[in-house]
Amino acid sequence: MTQSQRSTASAFEYDVVLIGAGIMSATLAALLTELDPGLRIRIVEKLDGIAQESSDAWNNAGTGHSALCELNYTSRRADGSVDISKAVDINEQFQLSRQFWAALVERDHLGSPEEFINSVPHMSFISGTDGADYLAARQKALTSNPLFSKQEFSDDPSQIAEWAPLLVAGREPGQRIAATFSPDGTDVDFGELSRKLLAYASHVGAELAFNVAVTGLARRAGGGWAVTTRNQRTGVEDVCSAATVFVGAGGGALRLLQKSGIPEAALYGGFPISGEFLRCDDPEVVGRHRAKVYGQAAVGAPPMSVPHLDARIIGGKRSLMFGPYAGFSPKFLKNGSWWDLPGSVRPSNLGPMLAVARDNFGLEKYLVTELLRSASSQFAALREYYPEADKAQWRMITAGQRVQVIKRKKGKGGVLQFGTEVVTSADGSIAGLLGASPGASTAVPIMLAVAKRCFADRMDEWAPKIAQLVPSYGTRLSDDPDRAHATMARTAEVLGI
Ligand SMILES: Cc1cc2nc3c(=O)[nH]c(=O)nc-3n(C[C@H](O)[C@H](O)[C@H](O)COP(=O)(O)OP(=O)(O)OC[C@H]3O[C@@H](n4cnc5c(N)ncnc54)[C@H](O)[C@@H]3O)c2cc1C
Repeated sequence: MTQSQRSTASAFEYDVVLIGAGIMSATLAALLTELDPGLRIRIVEKLDGIAQESSDAWNNAGTGHSALCELNYTSRRADGSVDISKAVDINEQFQLSRQFWAALVERDHLGSPEEFINSVPHMSFISGTDGADYLAARQKALTSNPLFSKQEFSDDPSQIAEWAPLLVAGREPGQRIAATFSPDGTDVDFGELSRKLLAYASHVGAELAFNVAVTGLARRAGGGWAVTTRNQRTGVEDVCSAATVFVGAGGGALRLLQKSGIPEAALYGGFPISGEFLRCDDPEVVGRHRAKVYGQAAVGAPPMSVPHLDARIIGGKRSLMFGPYAGFSPKFLKNGSWWDLPGSVRPSNLGPMLAVARDNFGLEKYLVTELLRSASSQFAALREYYPEADKAQWRMITAGQRVQVIKRKKGKGGVLQFGTEVVTSADGSIAGLLGASPGASTAVPIMLAVAKRCFADRMDEWAPKIAQLVPSYGTRLSDDPDRAHATMARTAEVLGI
């Protein structure tokens, strides 16, 4: 049954119910509002405001992930050359997000862009000769692509000090260090962006309900879904009907997809990893660091454990953040329950979860090491990037929960995935998002993929609007350098970055 048949076949209260008010639902709500302002949209959030879980500015690192600085997207081949295909893919995706945000800014739907996105150069930083050689080869390979043409490389400490003085001051002389510098990097406040996107969608007509948790999802006989909710304050239960449901519940998505009973969800399990960051608001220190500096993950550590020293701009104020330090909690959301992990285990995903436990010794060792780490060893990690760091100027903050996807795989039992996965029912009436990487930065291409699966019969009609909102959708800017430069320059100008 197509989406329009679902909408007309029986009287639904809503065309679309979106569960959760984080960046993913906010992006989908704004996108659908642009594509069809007449859609009846309801967003249901169990907390008392927008973006209070992973999308909150302090619950994530705010990196506009475009593979300018993240070394895990550029692996070294045996012959020493660097494979940039994944980096190009990630950058292409971020360009789609930039284009959508720029289009909404141009239409006056998002207010001032500097309230959610700012120019913050992205750097990679490595010590040792082998690392420096890799970084040089990486920069050479990347700059052959127009999306990365501004990236510079240096192994001269005085140049690196010009880019990011904190990295060099007080460092042992004679140590080989190398860095790349991309002036076109960004810092994004995904919490503020979510609020702006939802303010726009609700201004046009979307309904937004807070303190309302979705507790059940059941298929209706005539098609579509019965969505059971519980008011968190009054305890009152209610049911509404929707032709289409998007489960944008972040860490809560797996259990809701399981509740829906769709067979596609049975393939998955989840493994939560919590995180902490060191934060510094001292104006003297903050004023000396204006970049996001990414290093390399420890051997066996997952890609999202890459240490980074980030300039942040949140609510107009500058701060620094360093981390992440991994931790463990069975909760799937920061405001989740201790039963989240055990409650997600099903006969269908137990095998894959046990297979992942068996095959990922490196990850387990990393997590145990992180958990046993003392505060001074945590601070020593910061000093590898900022040798003169003073403990008195930093405090630990708790970041959002990530739920890594565990997927059943033939022949292997199960595999741990570090990317995101859109899970959709065969009829496209329900979709949900699992996983957290590259995350919020790629919310626009991910939500376009959701639209394509859930509104397949409307995509032809919407194609001209999509082309206006996201001109490079369905194409690759990298294949056309002139177009790439022009598109990036235009979005940079509109977004002020
Ligand atoms: C430590 C860390 C660092 C990160 N760094 C970056 C980064 O630098 N760049 C980047 O692009 N991405 C980053 N990410 C990833 C990014 O934060 C996430 O991908 C993104 O925020 C997920 O958005 P979401 O809308 O899916 O989920 P969330 O923001 O978690 O929102 C889900 C919402 O659903 C609600 N909800 C849950 N269950 C229910 C229910 N039953 N009923 C109603 N509502 C419900 C929750 O309360 C919440 O508000 C990071 C993540 C973490 C944890």
